[in-house]
Amino acid sequence: MELTIAQKLEALLKLQSLDSQLDELIKIRGGLPEEVRDLEDDIAGFETRIGKFNAEIKTLEEEIERNRMVKKDAEKLITKYKDQQMNVRNNREYDAISKEIELQSLEIELAEKRINEASFRIRGKEEEIKSTQNALNERKEDLKAKKQELDQITSESQEEEKAIKDQREEQSTHIESRLLNSYNKIRGNALNGLAVVMVKRGACGGCFNVVPPQRQADIKDKKKIIVCEHCGRIFADVEGVPEPAPVGRGR
Ligand SMILES: [Zn+2]
Repeated sequence: MELTIAQKLEALLKLQSLDSQLDELIKIRGGLPEEVRDLEDDIAGFETRIGKFNAEIKTLEEEIERNRMVKKDAEKLITKYKDQQMNVRNNREYDAISKEIELQSLEIELAEKRINEASFRIRGKEEEIKSTQNALNERKEDLKAKKQELDQITSESQEEEKAIKDQREEQSTHIESRLLNSYNKIRGNALNGLAVVMVKRGACGGCFNVVPPQRQADIKDKKKIIVCEHCGRIFADVEGVPEPAPVGRGR
């Protein structure tokens, strides 16, 4: 059964009223959900950072271990060379072994330098982990408080929200999809969430631009759906009597 324009406008107006109630509920919750999301993002970021530092420490520890092995091997070689030096047959052999010992000593020095560097860097990472952990703990405390606050507000408004949403669902089945789409589109673009408005005191209830008297009369006639030429919102009706053309009012 095709609805009349008046019935369509009435259905739209009812949907608008439900949506405005939902907007109001969400406004009461305020910026809390967003604050909770931001805190959760921060926490995830800090945890990633700590994980990265720990991985870097592990790499550095492996480097230290590697260099300890290098050092150990070099020390073993030096011991071996020193034994060999006891049994050399001539100066040439003695010098050749001395050269080897010198080389291995350099290896040891280099390995020690690398171990020290890696240890130094590990301490730096540990400091960073500590400060990141502190920031993380702070955020976790904040998040706990905000979540409690949000839960309380949400549970208070949850039942109401569900009831309105159910009504909204039901109400939107009374509106043809093409009209519902335009409604949703207009509402999405409107800062105040209003897609359907009344003409109030001769002006659009959405953008407050003047609606000419003839247009107001057309809106009241409800022969077709009329939108505001300034903001595109749908006019449901004219509140009160249309403003008469300003004649004979001057001095
Ligand atoms: Zn308007």
